[in-house]
Amino acid sequence: TETRRVALVTGSTSGIGLAIAKKFATIGYDVAVNSFEDEADVAEAMADVCALGSGQIAYFRADLADPTDSFELVQSVVARFGQLDVLVNNAGIQKVAPIEELPPADWDRILAISLDSAFHTIRAAIPGMTERGWGRIINVASAHGLRASPFKSAYVATKHAVVGLTKTVALETAEKGVTANAICPGYVWTPLAATQVADQARAHNLSEEQVIRQVMLAPQPTRQFVQPEEIAEMAAYLCTDMARSITGSTISIDGGWTAK
Ligand code: NAD
Repeated sequence: TETRRVALVTGSTSGIGLAIAKKFATIGYDVAVNSFEDEADVAEAMADVCALGSGQIAYFRADLADPTDSFELVQSVVARFGQLDVLVNNAGIQKVAPIEELPPADWDRILAISLDSAFHTIRAAIPGMTERGWGRIINVASAHGLRASPFKSAYVATKHAVVGLTKTVALETAEKGVTANAICPGYVWTPLAATQVADQARAHNLSEEQVIRQVMLAPQPTRQFVQPEEIAEMAAYLCTDMARSITGSTISIDGGWTAK
């Protein structure tokens, strides 16, 4: 019989996180789906994941901007499923504005949801993983964890920090059967990408169509958006036993962006 695996994917009711949750459901994992929305408002996403799954699928509402919620999310998953083998820190938000116009509250929130929450969930998840001698930590960083773009100070700082956190966790868990990696996508067509088009248009003084071609797809040599399913495939691969030596890595899926 196959080894049972339990995966938690944060921010998994939309975009990349939803694609990862669906992939894990497809390969028979028990999947903990998370967002900060009411369960009634995520019924469609949950139905999508459940339709693919043969394992158990459950929704865990938690606000990842909150340290206690982040830590307790992992505890709730362990209480419900008995273990946590795969932790995907994916939840994230974006704000496009020149630094002098970026509200400090937005700076704090971007760091809290993507960086601080990863610290808290990893802290909560590691003891169980090292005890069982197997674990996978996958942080969805960004090409902006490796390169900067104007008007994204909080996001770029956060994603660079997530890469540093990932590398450190990889070193600390290297002899314990646990790997930690950062997937660094270029522009992926999701609601997060779609909703920043208007902000980008304002910041760059361009039309929305110009933003898509000249700002978003310009740094991506393929001139194509990455699809969420491409990120999900990599997440699943990192969970195989063959991927046991991939740790502390940044894995770019960015159409050639960071080759430049
Ligand atoms: P999305 O907006 O489609 O999904 C984000 C998810 O996070 C949603 O499920 C949302 O409910 C959840 N979330 C937001 N705030 C939360 C909170 N406080 N508590 C719990 N959950 C919360 O975004 P996406 O494009 O799928 O992005 C997912 C990740 O991928 C983010 O970390 C993002 O930075 C990263 N990323 C995205 C792109 C891109 O172009 N879309 C590129 C590189 C990296």
